[in-house]
Amino acid sequence: MIETTSRWIMKMVRFSDPKTPYHKVPAEWLPAYEAHIRVVERQVAVVAAWVLLITVTLYQFTHEFRIAHRPDLWLTELFIRAPVLASALLTLISHYTGKPLCQSRHLLRAMGLSVMVMILALFLVHYNGRLADAYQITNGMIISFFGVAILSVRGPKEWWLMFFMPLAIFLLVARGKGFAIAELLPFLFDPLVMMVIGLVMSEALRQLRVGEFLARQQLRQQATTDQLTGLLNRRAMHHLLEQEHARAKRYGGTYSLILGDLDNFKRVNDQYGHNIGDMVLQETARRLSLHMRTEDALCRWGGEEVLVLLPETDLEGAIQVAEKVRFSLANEPMLAGEHSIPQTISLGVTNCYGLDDIESAIKRADDALYQAKENGRNRTEAVASPHSENGSNKHQT
Ligand code: GH3
Ligand code: MG
Ligand code: MG
Repeated sequence: MIETTSRWIMKMVRFSDPKTPYHKVPAEWLPAYEAHIRVVERQVAVVAAWVLLITVTLYQFTHEFRIAHRPDLWLTELFIRAPVLASALLTLISHYTGKPLCQSRHLLRAMGLSVMVMILALFLVHYNGRLADAYQITNGMIISFFGVAILSVRGPKEWWLMFFMPLAIFLLVARGKGFAIAELLPFLFDPLVMMVIGLVMSEALRQLRVGEFLARQQLRQQATTDQLTGLLNRRAMHHLLEQEHARAKRYGGTYSLILGDLDNFKRVNDQYGHNIGDMVLQETARRLSLHMRTEDALCRWGGEEVLVLLPETDLEGAIQVAEKVRFSLANEPMLAGEHSIPQTISLGVTNCYGLDDIESAIKRADDALYQAKENGRNRTEAVASPHSENGSNKHQT
């Protein structure tokens, strides 16, 4: 219900562009969004903790400057403020020791809830029918409600916990203490308006953050993907290769590479045209993707060349993958436009250890591919790493 309301509010607000949609993070980006939101939560939590620590301490020690001057309630107030101070201190300790006790999201909730409990409890303690006293607490409530709205980084989900639950409990307690709700309403009116303003603003901020996140993700995806085939591009592959190589170096593991090159692809272009050639490349990418595990990386290495990175895979395993890939092309002609085009691929395979280096591993895969072409195409050839246990042996398939 709150989600729908916030969606509706955002549709009304619509920033500058009337077509601005209500941003929604697609499922495949949810893990990245979760990581992003955790960073935001950590930052907001640290700022909020400092603000609370300073302001709440200030309020505790400045009784005489306020109209609701009740030195007799000093200890009661300290008791009411203690959870806020404790949750703020916990947040700061978590942050500065670098040993998070729990996720920032829970710290934000603890701070938000304790502020709500504090301000509503102070109201109940100080409310005595005197307008000046009550309005002073009202001011505190306005500040608190706005501040708590800022803490709801995850948006409407948090509103139940941060606002509606404490307010409902407050109304029940107030009724229990014999206050008439109609009598309290004038004092609650401004804070409640502030709460609505705060929630709309925090939701607008959240939407801006989501919009920025989506724009950044799209840019990142464009920078790492090949436009025609949707495969990773060479730059992204270099990055993954470096990561995998560093892992092999550190933990002594192995990984394998498969370099593939379409056979006589120039003829496809010459015979059917470049557009049909493009379709064959797209279909090749689709078929190859079917044989990859999620941890494998498949990239368009050049015009009609692909490079596959198989983490933690030995030479034999890589040859099996290469053969599956080869069959997936050779067994069934490509349907491109109205044409049915037989297309094969030659593949060069190598394995790699941390003692190797990336460039020489790619060179070995290239040598193996060259042999596959020399030996008649539509073949898989392999050159093992010189660091393999059984030395630098050649495999043929
Ligand atoms: P081989 O079996 O020796 O690999 O023969 P080949 O014809 O595949 O080799 P060659 O390197 O001579 O030709 C590669 C061709 O791939 C040439 C180029 O026109 C074509 N090509 C490269 N990129 C693209 C592309 O994006 N789209 C299309 N349609 N063709 C491309
Ligand atoms: Mg080529
Ligand atoms: Mg080729």
